[in-house]
Amino acid sequence: MSSFDRASERMAQARRITVLTGAGISTDSGIPDFRGPQGVWTKNPAAERASQLQHYLSDPEVRRAAWQNRLNSPAWAAQPNSGHQAIVELERHGRLRSLITQNIDELHQRAGSDPSLVLELHGTMRSVVCWQCGERGPMGPVLDRVRAGEDDPSCTTCGGILKSATISFGQSLDPEVLAGAEAAASDCDLLLAVGSSLTVHPAAGLVPLAKGKGASLIIVNAEPTPYDRIADAVLSDSISKVLPALVSASVLDG
Ligand code: NAD
Repeated sequence: MSSFDRASERMAQARRITVLTGAGISTDSGIPDFRGPQGVWTKNPAAERASQLQHYLSDPEVRRAAWQNRLNSPAWAAQPNSGHQAIVELERHGRLRSLITQNIDELHQRAGSDPSLVLELHGTMRSVVCWQCGERGPMGPVLDRVRAGEDDPSCTTCGGILKSATISFGQSLDPEVLAGAEAAASDCDLLLAVGSSLTVHPAAGLVPLAKGKGASLIIVNAEPTPYDRIADAVLSDSISKVLPALVSASVLDG
């Protein structure tokens, strides 16, 4: 039996599927991942330093570079692709327990995924938060200020440091979102991990958690992951091609 057939058989049997996505699902929408062959950090290892919270907070130079990166992000123009759509299809067939994403691009919601089923483990780049007073707001108006010449815009309420509402390295995850993700990994009957190197914790730890509670595990990722050996099926094809095929085969059979 091929890996694809084994994966669709498991998918057809499953009734509460939790999907865990990473940057790889959005590369075909034009947003590079971090660690794939064309990844931002693979090409420029220094960029990893800028995503450390302590550097962002202590070094205005790091913040200025971060605001330029945000301004020029390909994510603003990106559209969801057939991989995102396939997960919406799974939801329409009543099979989706939860969609846990490490992505910050909101392309799942833009594809039509029910926002109440989406758990954004690493936050969203479409909002900003003040590091001092905690005030949150949309990213758009702050990027307008950067375009108008402010290279390190500060909070208009308290003057504190502004940052995208994403989780940087060195920053804790939102405990409620993490608890929701752990519950979704614990009580699903299948965990489908898509487009993640599964090296960032605690997100990656959801994989052995689900498997340990008896769920089937399918991994869709171009490169090997640390959990391939405990997976029931590993598909290393293009996500935007294989995910729609997997979902249609399993909803037709199931
Ligand atoms: P990662 O960069 O560590 O791994 C992505 C994996 O996807 C790689 O192993 C790569 O081989 C695979 N991949 C890429 N394109 C693929 C394709 N079309 N088909 C099949 N496989 C493909 O990503 P990660 O595990 O999500 O961790 C990176 C962190 O960076 C996350 O925390 C995430 O928040 C953040 N990030 C988010 C975005 C986004 O929101 N789109 C983009 C870059 C990074």
